[in-house]
Amino acid sequence: MKIGYRFRVGLQMLAAIMVSVAASPALATDPPEWSAPVKPFRIAGDIYYVGTKGLAAYLIVTTQGAVLLDGTLAENAALVERNIQSLGVPLHHVRLLISDHAHDDHVGALAQIKRATGARFLASAGDRWALEHGLPRGDTNYGVRRFPPVRVDGIVRDGQVIRLGGTMLTAHLTPGHTPGCTSWSMTIRDGGRPRRVLFLCSITVAGNTLVGNRAYPGIVRDYRATFAKLAAMRADILLTSHPEMADVLDREARREAGKADAFIDPTALSALVAESRAAFETALAGQNQEGAPVR
Ligand code: ZN
Repeated sequence: MKIGYRFRVGLQMLAAIMVSVAASPALATDPPEWSAPVKPFRIAGDIYYVGTKGLAAYLIVTTQGAVLLDGTLAENAALVERNIQSLGVPLHHVRLLISDHAHDDHVGALAQIKRATGARFLASAGDRWALEHGLPRGDTNYGVRRFPPVRVDGIVRDGQVIRLGGTMLTAHLTPGHTPGCTSWSMTIRDGGRPRRVLFLCSITVAGNTLVGNRAYPGIVRDYRATFAKLAAMRADILLTSHPEMADVLDREARREAGKADAFIDPTALSALVAESRAAFETALAGQNQEGAPVR
């Protein structure tokens, strides 16, 4: 898993660089997997995957309606809506929208999905401005990737529990990748056993300016606090917004092949946090060596 993870982080950084050198609109360089359809599937409990091959969207079904976590790219909105409907969930049953962080590849579709569902959108204070302006905050090496603005109907604080139909989701503010990056946790019953599920907000550097970030001066302190916080957390099932970071589709393939507990992996979170922390410190050292950008 370790070699694979490093390789994937490398690919993600390469993608960011490709975007930065492209004079044409950023969408032209998006990996094709980001908009490639996959058949929706049940992960565990009432959690379903409704995203694309390269970008996750998770649907949590309750007796009082459903919660959608992330929508992926704006161009994927209709695809995600069809995925939800194909599970037998009418769009108006989606009552709440939440997100992991205010970047176009995760929240681009939420404005359209909000219109189609009439759902309320809850988000952190740190990402609210970006979400409502369709404009990420923070300097990067890949320029600005706008997305359709989406109105935030309510703010979630660190540790806040949101409830729908007996289902409880806890917000964990894990800033760094964006100022309002939010991870979410819930406990499900799996064959009678409780399982802790963590929807982890991105913890990669992925083109973020760490040294001299004028739009987000506290970025280094936030990343480090987030790594410390996540290192103390435990999860039985780890789910990520870029599905390959937690092998979400590979695990599903293994389960299809007969490994019933393919999603249960209490070591996945600590491994990913340790690797990401090391990658962050390496990136920071590299940027420090280059010196703060001259402006
Ligand atoms: Zn991002």
